[in-house]
Amino acid sequence: MPLVDGEMMSPEDAMAANLCPECGRDLRKVNPVAHRKSHWHRRPNDDVDGQEGLKRMKMLDDFIVKNNVRTSDQPKPDAPNAAPVA
Ligand SMILES: [Zn+2]
Repeated sequence: MPLVDGEMMSPEDAMAANLCPECGRDLRKVNPVAHRKSHWHRRPNDDVDGQEGLKRMKMLDDFIVKNNVRTSDQPKPDAPNAAPVA
């Protein structure tokens, strides 16, 4: 359960605010793909104990897909703040 500003926040509320469902980090300020790896080096178990981790991992996956996060540091060619091609 993420801790945001000293308050426990549900993973759903965290995601709605673009915060990591695991730790509450602002996903707009970190690389979500690298951040995902920092939490889950491997897939959580499918057993009861792993269900909550799996759920949060999938929420973060959805964020990565929904926000079209690229796995490289290269700027998107069509991004408004992309460096002009020389
Ligand atoms: Zn996190």
